[in-house]
Amino acid sequence: MFLDAAPYRSPMADVSTRPVTRVIEATHTLEGAGFGVYRPFPTPALDHLDPFLLLDELEPRVYAPGERKGAPDHPHRGFETVSYILAGETEHRDSTGNGGIIRAGGVQWMTAGDGIIHSEMPGPTMVREGGLSHGFQLWVNLPRDLKRTPPRYQSLEPGGLTEVTGDGWTARIIAGAVLGATGPARTHTPINYVHLTLTPGAEVTLDIPTDHNIGVHAFASHGSVGDPAVPLARSQFAILSPGEGDLVIRGPGPSPEEAEPMEVLVLSGRPLNEPIARYGPFVMNTREELIEAIEDYNAGRFGTIPPMELD
Ligand code: MN
Repeated sequence: MFLDAAPYRSPMADVSTRPVTRVIEATHTLEGAGFGVYRPFPTPALDHLDPFLLLDELEPRVYAPGERKGAPDHPHRGFETVSYILAGETEHRDSTGNGGIIRAGGVQWMTAGDGIIHSEMPGPTMVREGGLSHGFQLWVNLPRDLKRTPPRYQSLEPGGLTEVTGDGWTARIIAGAVLGATGPARTHTPINYVHLTLTPGAEVTLDIPTDHNIGVHAFASHGSVGDPAVPLARSQFAILSPGEGDLVIRGPGPSPEEAEPMEVLVLSGRPLNEPIARYGPFVMNTREELIEAIEDYNAGRFGTIPPMELD
């Protein structure tokens, strides 16, 4: 018997599919002023998945009025923060004078670049009435020559994502090009960011560029990913390394007792392959640049959030 170390490829597939290289268990931790998140990275098991620096799932939870905590004024430099709200709302204000509410189904793609101070708080309806809160924040690294680019916002309103449906599955494309469609967000480097829902028995295959790292975060029910199929359950994060082949994701088994659809986020991107120096909300290439960021922030060079005024 000859045992080949190479991953198994289905002989029935007309194109190859990528194998899973690792599965990470998300940690549960508190962020901001004290709201719970499931975090696949950065954790002791996984520092980052180039070009992605952090993924937080705001834990799905029903809050009483006034209970939901937020993230008061804090700075960022050197990367982008992407907020995707599934339930509830986030009110943001920042040192460029920008402000508004990210509503359920909406995305804010914020290029912090050279530097910004902002707050991310529960919106007025959540403060007044409470309710279900659920969403994600993804940090996308910027290449060296764009780390000091002027701050920029992209606000994608609810209903503004590209939706593609197939046999038992739905894809909401935030950014990138998959399944013959393109997401609305503009990115600085090649990235795909997709929310997939798969009913029991459904399978979807995504064509991902060979030079992309891929991560798949499961946040509802369970299914499998890759070839050979690796089970993936809620709060698990699968990594597929760059290489030939498509990404295959399967929903729960077709038996009736497994009726809950699987939901995943798919992240893929071309790695920057640059040194990473990170300290809290600053992510640069060198320690000297980190010190400069802290000095600039302490000297007030990130600006301030304008005081509130009555309308
Ligand atoms: Mn922030």
